[in-house]
Amino acid sequence: MHAGLCERGFLLRGLRIGCLMVLAGWPQGLLWGAIKEYKSGVVWPVPKVVDPGTAGSAPADAIVLFDGKDLSAWQDAEKWAIQDGYVEAHGGSITTKQAFGDCQLHLEWCAPEEVSGKGQGRGNSGVYLMGKYEIQILDSCENDTYPDGQAGAVYKQHPPLVNACRKPGQWQTYDILFTAPRFDKAGKLLTPACITLLHNGVVVQNHFELTGDTSYVRAPLYAPHPPKLPLSLQYHRNPVRFRNIWIRELKPMLPLKTAEVDKGSEPEKKPSAKRKTTPKGESPKKSDDKKAESKNSGSPKDEGPMPEGKKSEAKKAEPKRASADSGTKR
Ligand code: MG
Repeated sequence: MHAGLCERGFLLRGLRIGCLMVLAGWPQGLLWGAIKEYKSGVVWPVPKVVDPGTAGSAPADAIVLFDGKDLSAWQDAEKWAIQDGYVEAHGGSITTKQAFGDCQLHLEWCAPEEVSGKGQGRGNSGVYLMGKYEIQILDSCENDTYPDGQAGAVYKQHPPLVNACRKPGQWQTYDILFTAPRFDKAGKLLTPACITLLHNGVVVQNHFELTGDTSYVRAPLYAPHPPKLPLSLQYHRNPVRFRNIWIRELKPMLPLKTAEVDKGSEPEKKPSAKRKTTPKGESPKKSDDKKAESKNSGSPKDEGPMPEGKKSEAKKAEPKRASADSGTKR
C-alpha cells in the first residue's frame, strides 16, 4: 500500500516536470540538432593581429611621426625645438614627408601654461589633414571665441559637440578618424571627407562630413586632389607643444569571396496583415502607418523594392553634398 502511494507520487511529479518542460519549449530544444545556422556567404580574411601597446603608446602597425626624439618624418621642421620628449612650434608649419589618405591619427598637444593673448591668439595651432582640412587646436579653457574656431572644431565648418579642453599647460589628446574625399576621373566629388574626433577621450566630432577645405578667407570648397597627401601641424605664432604622434593608414576589409547566402532556419518575415486593419472608432492614418513601418522594419530589404514615388521622395531627403563646381556652403 505504502509502496503504491510512493509510486503514484513519483508518477505525478514526473508528469508535472514533463508539463513544465513542454511550457519551457524543451521539445524545440531537443530538436536543436536540426536547426540551421544563418551564414552570410561572405568569406572574410582573418583580421591581422596587432599589438595595441599600452595606453597612449603607438599600436604595432602605426607609423610613428614623432616619438619625442626626432622630427625626421617631417619637413620644414628646422625651427621647431625638441626637448624633454616634446617639440615646441616655432617659425612655421611642418609637414609630413609621407602622404596619407584614410587614417587614424593620435597626437598630444599642450597650450602654453603662461596665458597670453585671447580668442584665436591663445594657444592656436591646428592639424591639417591632407594639408587642407583643419581640426583646430586652441586653448579653449575659459577663452571666448567663435564656436567653429575653438579647440576640436572643424575650422569654420562645425564646432565641437562639447568643450573638452583641459587647462593651459596640461597635456591633451586628439584621436582622429579621417576618411578622405573621393573624386571621379573628371574631378567631380563623389563622397566628401569625413571626420570623427575624440578630444581627451570625449567625442567632439561624430562622423562629420566636410563641405570642403577649411579656409580663413572664403567658404569651403572642394577641389580634386590625389587620394593621399601629407598632413601638417600649424604654426600660428603660439609656442604650442606636441608629443606622441602616430598614424595608422586605414584600408577597407574586403571579403575573400562571396558564396551563396544560407538563410538558416529563421522563418521568413511576412508583411503583417494587422497593419492594414483599422481599430474600431479610429480613422486610418497614413503617416502613422509609415512611421510604424519604418520602426518595425529591420532593413530596407525587408520591405521589398521601393515604389517609384517613394524613390523620388527619398532622393529629395538625401543630404546635399558640396561639389567642386558649386562650392556649396552649409
Ligand atoms: Mg589653427
